Amino acid sequence: MTLTPPPLRNDCFSLPAGVDWTPVDEALALLRERLQRVVSSEELPLTTAAGRILAADVIANRSNPALPNTAVDGYGFAGPIAEGTHVLPLMPGRAAAGLAYEGAVPAGQAIRILTGAALPDGVDTVILEEDVTLGAAEIAFHGPLKRGANTREAGEDVTSGAVILPAGRVLTPADLALAAAAGISQVQVYLPLRVGVLSTGDELCEVGEAAAAGQIYDANRPMLLALLRQMGFVPVDLGRVVDDRDALRARLDTAAAQVDVILTSGGASAGDEDHVSALLRESGALQEWRIALKPGRPLALAMWQGVPIFGLPGNPVAALVCTLIFARPAMGQMAGANWHQPQGFDLPAAFAKHKKPGRREYLRARVRQGQVEVFKSEGSGRISGLSWAEGLVELADGGAQIQPGDLVRYIPYSAFNL
Ligand code: AMP
Ligand code: MG
Repeated sequence: MTLTPPPLRNDCFSLPAGVDWTPVDEALALLRERLQRVVSSEELPLTTAAGRILAADVIANRSNPALPNTAVDGYGFAGPIAEGTHVLPLMPGRAAAGLAYEGAVPAGQAIRILTGAALPDGVDTVILEEDVTLGAAEIAFHGPLKRGANTREAGEDVTSGAVILPAGRVLTPADLALAAAAGISQVQVYLPLRVGVLSTGDELCEVGEAAAAGQIYDANRPMLLALLRQMGFVPVDLGRVVDDRDALRARLDTAAAQVDVILTSGGASAGDEDHVSALLRESGALQEWRIALKPGRPLALAMWQGVPIFGLPGNPVAALVCTLIFARPAMGQMAGANWHQPQGFDLPAAFAKHKKPGRREYLRARVRQGQVEVFKSEGSGRISGLSWAEGLVELADGGAQIQPGDLVRYIPYSAFNL
């Protein structure tokens, strides 16, 4: 069991003095530098560890292949084989996967051998069965064949003792195959990060309830809880609170004892009804990051009884973008993972856009016929566009005049593990 590290420092979100608008990359660099792992670890059977984060390097117990073996069904003998026609007497018996062939194959003789079988003593080369004429007790074929043809060397894939998976990696199904092949049955992984989700606002009501005039349904909470689950965290539903400082304080007190991180949405600006920022400011640990980002600002970051709070904007479009761009890598690092950089790729735009300099922009986007389409409206209230999209277009901080066919950076939602 690794020890749980001490809580993060209260000043961990402070920004350098004099900064006005913080560029996205600077904000990310600060989070990366200031946040550390907050969870301890446990040992798990490999079969249950997919999606978990490795707490220690995984070292191969065994080489893969463990023994030299054949890559094809055919006949094995000692190589190399010169050009020309060859007839070799066939030994009785065969070598098959999982069954060691007893005895050796003398030089100048051949043995029937099946894919995956360890090479018997005396065999280092295999010919495909399709290239052979089979007689009663011999085989005929044409050379040449290099020594080692159609075989796999011991350890050519994985060497015993090598690090096959590094600490901090999120285990994929393919990683389980690799670890299993290398003889690993147990892995040391971090306990999943528990992330609380709290919605704030007098106007919110719960899905399933009748909405009064002026009320809106809480759309952020179902979205954020589902996002967190897909990202491999443990979502904890902290419900909704009205815009009341005492109610909010009480809820945060309870939550801080239950979770490792809190995501709130709404009330994060400096407005009259922005009780989240007001309360966090009162607690002394609030940092309001004015990030040069559209959609997104403001983002409030604070510590509440040692638990970091990401105060997301209330607007669902901005809440999603801020979660993907900032909260996702930050939470990953607190969960013990390596810093996550979503991998995008450059594709031709199916749209035109004039972009102002001075801020990063993310547009709701998807790819059709190899081109990136963006949602018909950039209106940040358009939740339908979030659902329409399958990813985001990332427009760099500078100004740009994008014409159809110009390359733009597309980041699929899948790059965020969605
Ligand atoms: P706020 O940050 O509280 O000023 O909220 C910004 C906008 O987002 C307002 O129009 C809110 O009504 C809306 N909003 C806040 N929270 C939610 C939520 N949980 N679901 C849907 N819309 C929300
Ligand atoms: Mg509000």
